[in-house]
Formats: sequence, C-alpha cells, structure tokens
Amino acid sequence: MRQKRAKAYKKQMNVYLHTFKFREPFQTIVDDEIILNCEKASFDIAKGLNRTIQGETKPMITQCSIEALYKTNNQDAISIAKSFERRRCNHPPSNPIPSSECIRSIVDINGENKHRYLVATQDKSLRNKLSRVPGVPLIYMNRSVMVMEPMSEATTTYSNSVERKKLTGGLNDSKVGKVDKHEKLKTEGIEGTEGAPTKKRKGPKEPNPLSMKKKKATNTDTKSNQDSKDNLEPKTKRRRKHKSSSERTAVSEEPNANSSNSSESDKVTQE
Ligand SMILES: [Zn+2]
Repeated sequence: MRQKRAKAYKKQMNVYLHTFKFREPFQTIVDDEIILNCEKASFDIAKGLNRTIQGETKPMITQCSIEALYKTNNQDAISIAKSFERRRCNHPPSNPIPSSECIRSIVDINGENKHRYLVATQDKSLRNKLSRVPGVPLIYMNRSVMVMEPMSEATTTYSNSVERKKLTGGLNDSKVGKVDKHEKLKTEGIEGTEGAPTKKRKGPKEPNPLSMKKKKATNTDTKSNQDSKDNLEPKTKRRRKHKSSSERTAVSEEPNANSSNSSESDKVTQE
C-alpha cells in the first residue's frame, strides 16, 4: 500500500513539475490546523512533507495562520510555525482573517496558482475550493498519516489539454504510420490543398498586373501617363503579341535608340 501510494504521489508530482513548472524546494503553505494536528501526533511536519512528495519542500505559514496559533497558546505548535518561513499576506496582524480565506487569497490568484504553492491544510472546504484551481497539490493529515489528495479534475483537464497540444504538435508522423490508409488519404488531401495555395499564389500575381494594364493601357492611349506606360509596356507585351506586334515593331523602329523602353520592347518582340 505504501509503495503504491508513493508511486501515485511521484506520478502526480511529475505532472506539477512538467505541466505546471513547479521547482524544488516546493513552497508549501501550511495552515495552523495541520500544525496543531501534527504537534499533537508528534509528527514532524517538515520531514513528513518531504517524504510525502518525495522532494525538498519549503514550508511556509501566513501571517494570519500564525496569529491563529498565537491564540491557542500552544507553545510547541507556535515554535514549529516560527521555524517556517513567513508568508506575508498583507492582512493586518492586529486584524487577521480566517486562515482558509487568507490562504485562498494567496494561492488562487484569478483562478491560477501563480506562485506554484503546495497547500497542506486540514480545512476540507478550503481543499475543495482550491481543487478547482488547476495545479494545486493538496496535502492533509488523515489521522496520523500524511496524504495527498488525488489529482483534481481541474488539474487533470488542464494537464490533458497540454499533453494533447504536445501530441498534435510533434507526433503526427507516428500517428499516420499507425492509422495507415485513412491518415494517408488525409495527408494526400492535405498535399493537394497545399498545392492549390501555391497555384493561388501564382494566380493573384499575374491577374493583378494584367488588370492594371488593361485599364491603364486604355488610359495611356490619351498620352497622359508616359511613365506608367514604360512600366506597363513590358507586361502588356505578352497580350499584345498577337494583336499589336506589328504596331510595336513599327513604334520601336522609329525611335530605336531613344530610350530604354524601346530596347525592352525589342527584347520582348525577340522573345
Ligand atoms: Zn492573511
């Protein structure tokens, strides 16, 4: 049983490591209740955390949680809490809020475990609330055994979506090999569509200048835009080859060496 549980926890922690980018030492928010619980059971909470998640943890306690401990006058529990790093929560020490609200305010930041905290709390309703936030490892004491909540639905859903993106991003080829015919057909279809776009790309380039030529060519008959003519002529040549090649040659013969335009038109006629 213990080995099974250790394996399950390790597997869960791997998800937090890889999907949610947790890093050692794992910052673990402990509440006053779990400290009292462990103190009563003579259970070393820091060692227990390291053993449970099979990694190095950094236990932390919020200002409000330690204020709650002061009120208990349990000096042993207080000294345990004092050995942990204090997490500032910006709630006034003179007027602390309930631990559950305080912890939630620093862990659930707009539905995200922004600071990548583990949370060790005896407050079941707090664990339920935090289980709706993806990527919050939850720990509590079940009698004298420290346990980790099974991965929450929010965490599982998030992790699965990340894994799916990885799959669709990088492993398409292996999928194709497995599914054979259907996938091949699909890829062929994709190839076909890939070919089509290139044709489309060719298309727009040609038609645009051609359409421009027609309009401007008719306009240039009025002799207004000689510059535009110069630019347009080489393109219009193709169309005009049959219609007006005689006209061009006649034109080119007259000015001959006058301009580059004529030389270009000569080249075209040669082609
Ligand atoms: Zn607080």
